Amino acid sequence: MSQIKIHLDERDMPRQWYNIVADLPKPLPPVLHPGTKQPIGPDDLAPIFPMGLIQQEVSQERYVDIPEEVLDIYRVWRPTPLVRARRLEQALDTPAHIYYKWEGVSPAGSHKPNTAVPQAYYNKTEGVKRLTTETGAGQWGSALAFACSLFGMECKVYMVRVSYDQKPYRRLLMEAWGASCISSPSPQTGVGRAILARDPESAGSLGIAISEAVEEAGSRADTNYSLGSVLNHVMLHQTVIGLETHKQLELAGDYPDVVIGCVGGGSNFAGLALPFVRDKITKGKTTRIVAVEPAACPSLTRGLYRYDFGDSAGLTPLLKMHTLGHDFMPPSIHAGGLRYHGMAPILCHLYDLGLIEAEAHQQTAVFQSAVLFARTEGHLPAPETAHAIHAAVEQARRCKESGEQKTIVFGASGHGHFDLVSYQKYFAGELTDHEYPEELIRKAQASLPVV
Ligand SMILES: *Cc1c(COP(=O)(O)O)cnc(C)c1O
Repeated sequence: MSQIKIHLDERDMPRQWYNIVADLPKPLPPVLHPGTKQPIGPDDLAPIFPMGLIQQEVSQERYVDIPEEVLDIYRVWRPTPLVRARRLEQALDTPAHIYYKWEGVSPAGSHKPNTAVPQAYYNKTEGVKRLTTETGAGQWGSALAFACSLFGMECKVYMVRVSYDQKPYRRLLMEAWGASCISSPSPQTGVGRAILARDPESAGSLGIAISEAVEEAGSRADTNYSLGSVLNHVMLHQTVIGLETHKQLELAGDYPDVVIGCVGGGSNFAGLALPFVRDKITKGKTTRIVAVEPAACPSLTRGLYRYDFGDSAGLTPLLKMHTLGHDFMPPSIHAGGLRYHGMAPILCHLYDLGLIEAEAHQQTAVFQSAVLFARTEGHLPAPETAHAIHAAVEQARRCKESGEQKTIVFGASGHGHFDLVSYQKYFAGELTDHEYPEELIRKAQASLPVV
């Protein structure tokens, strides 16, 4: 029996993050000021971000050193395992090789601490005492709570109401790490009060929670804001995933034909995929690189590629991205971490250049594959992760039909131990599929800012 877990020695962990901006065949569209509609500069971001992160946001350097203090904390759970999914392959009776990169081993249970730790670190070194943030399913909030606790910082998390109500254990985890977590929309911010006045039953959205966290950070000198996905510096930090995977596959003597990841704001997928996109650009590799999103929140596959705000209230700079419109209210599907109206500008640019692909899947099919994975590989995946699993399973089934022995690598972004209510609903047959209605696309188009 050949190897199952591909071991990477701690000493072989990446010491630099990879910045794809240095290798792009066409430069990224600029970020625009929400008022002037002109390209923003570092000073525009300084009220809510530390300079260390702003520099990374605009960096053109191909490799960026990981600070020693950050590496020390990464070593608590990194390198993460790359696992050959032999039992899943057998269950599917496929000639494909399936590997998954398992990020569920981090203290918070997902890939998110890969960026939470450096974000807390750069804020701490610049004297910031408090961080505010938003969270969907609670994964990002708990990752930042964990990181802040290590650096002795305060952390305040605005949690999307539908998840706050469905997932009380994530909130308790944040509290265990010393953070405070409140339901969003909340009466504590102007944005939250305005939304509650219009709709007291608002289920909330990531866009609204971002507005609340940004509003609070902008109004307090001791407080900065931290974003768990979408921005360039977040994609940069997450490349530890793909750089490790690249080395692990080399040790296994394999190279991917297909790389798959789920996308909410795009960070875990980018983290895994960007080093392989680099190989496409610089070495002429032909790997298919596939982003998977929920059919109920299909930013890449159905959204418009336009300038839009990152939040609902229109407080953030304008990003050129695939968007469903910043006031889009996604249906209450169970992959809370994938309910974001926009997408990382880096990924949208790569999609536009034809370097990556995207597909959308319905949640009941996704849960079916999640259960197959749990019953073959053992790990119970997060519902977000299950989207990547489902796409990998479909690829492997196609390999069975065609007899092709492809190598499929997917990002297993986190475990689902705090998502058991979603599984309960799935087992009870209570999960429904949502198609994204065409009229909402037109509505979203009407709400986009004019630039
Ligand atoms: C947050 C989250 C996602 C989606 O966010 P990305 O920025 O797109 O990675 C996916 N999987 C898990 C487990 C998450 O916690």
